[in-house]
Amino acid sequence: MNAVKTHLEVTVMVMLFWIVVEASSQVLGRFNRARAARLTLPHFLCETPLFMPVGTQGTIKGLTTNQLEDIGCQIILGNTYHLALRPTSELIDEFGGLHKFMNWPRALLTDSGGFQMVSLLHLADITEEGVTFQSPVDGKPMLLTPEESIQIQNRIGADIIMALDDVVKTTITGPRIEEAMYRTLRWIDRCIAAHKRPKEQNLFGIVQGGLDPVLRDICVQGLVERNLPGYAIGGLAGGEDKDSFWRVVAQCTASLPESKPRYVMGVGYPLDIVVCSALGADMYDCVYPTRTARFGTALVPEGVLKLKHQAMADDTRPIDSTCECMVCKNYTRAYLHCLVTKDAMGSQLLSYHNLYYMMQLSRNLHSSIIEGTFPKFVCDFLKNMFPEGDVPEWVCNAMEVAGIDISSCCTPLNSKLEVYTSSG
Ligand SMILES: [Zn+2]
Repeated sequence: MNAVKTHLEVTVMVMLFWIVVEASSQVLGRFNRARAARLTLPHFLCETPLFMPVGTQGTIKGLTTNQLEDIGCQIILGNTYHLALRPTSELIDEFGGLHKFMNWPRALLTDSGGFQMVSLLHLADITEEGVTFQSPVDGKPMLLTPEESIQIQNRIGADIIMALDDVVKTTITGPRIEEAMYRTLRWIDRCIAAHKRPKEQNLFGIVQGGLDPVLRDICVQGLVERNLPGYAIGGLAGGEDKDSFWRVVAQCTASLPESKPRYVMGVGYPLDIVVCSALGADMYDCVYPTRTARFGTALVPEGVLKLKHQAMADDTRPIDSTCECMVCKNYTRAYLHCLVTKDAMGSQLLSYHNLYYMMQLSRNLHSSIIEGTFPKFVCDFLKNMFPEGDVPEWVCNAMEVAGIDISSCCTPLNSKLEVYTSSG
């Protein structure tokens, strides 16, 4: 049996502590489908919705673990594939696990390693046995099985570990999608059987099935029957159109258990996170905030600010005057303009700010859901990002399903037409 270690609990203002979501409909930590919850993990009590920075090799490039704590980071994602190559899971195990190895006292999640193999290595091939690939170290053929992925993750010791799934791009169609979904269900049983530390590590299953609602539904039901500690929605953020993307999220969150965390893998941009949270998702991870920082781009309420731009050269303002991060308190845009893409310090400072932005976004989602001001938060967020009222159609569609009225921040269709006619 897979001991259930995670408790997804929603804050109830009338009570002192936390109760399980499914306990009652009097829960006040929800707004329609959106949930503000507390996730009890072995190393940390996380508040959701939450964003996980990606620390590929046990590090978020350029930031110390103390800085990550200052930012308010609750959980970091480690890439099993990279960690298994260097420093190796055996060595991490000798050091007492990744928490000790990287000096991170809070929560960790590791992925299965399969996705990296399929996406990074051209010579990866998936069979019923596992993912076969050519070793990037010595070129020899290697095989990652569900059992081996779990064994490696057991050695690394993260609070949440992910099942090996058969990943296919959502843009692929045909029988391959169905094959991958059923294989993912067969592999989850092999993962459960191989899991040696169910009391210390929470194994999450991954919902596959591409953009096909029938396949997604079969996968959700199959995983729910296994009564896992949490569930991820996989196979998204792979180039599908935005309307298809949110509809898959909405379908899965509607049928996944209320009391278990829901993690949308590889998502996403701040706007995606707001939309998915409105639809009832809890956890996210994405390389975007740190990757874009290395290219000199800062996340701001209006969208993005490109520090490389010549207009920044003599700009005395901080990146974002409403941001309370260390970077915005201490440095001007002009100074950052000098550093970005030229000095490592530039990408470190921008990564710091961008992760702070994501953490603040998570905190605001959590508190606005609890305080019952979630629709106002969503509208303010959209007004900042789309001051002209040109909120994308897919966002409007998703918000309608989420029961969030965003009419106050959208330009009515007829006035859009007027603008179009007068400018044309
Ligand atoms: Zn800042």
